[in-house]
Amino acid sequence: MTGWHAPDDLITRYTDGGLPEPDAWSLEKHLEGCAACAARTSRAARTGTAGAGGGGVGGAVGVGGVR
Ligand SMILES: [Zn+2]
Repeated sequence: MTGWHAPDDLITRYTDGGLPEPDAWSLEKHLEGCAACAARTSRAARTGTAGAGGGGVGGAVGVGGVR
């Protein structure tokens, strides 16, 4: 089980409180051993989004249809 990291939408739902408990527990367990995801989660809790603002997940959300 190496190489898995929590996707942004999972972290966002977790910080929103919209994640079912079993999923939240799994995420918390991962956060205990993964500083990278823990940092992203704490940032998401502050800003309301897990993304760093660089648009790395572009297209999945479809913000407003700019084109
Ligand atoms: Zn991770």
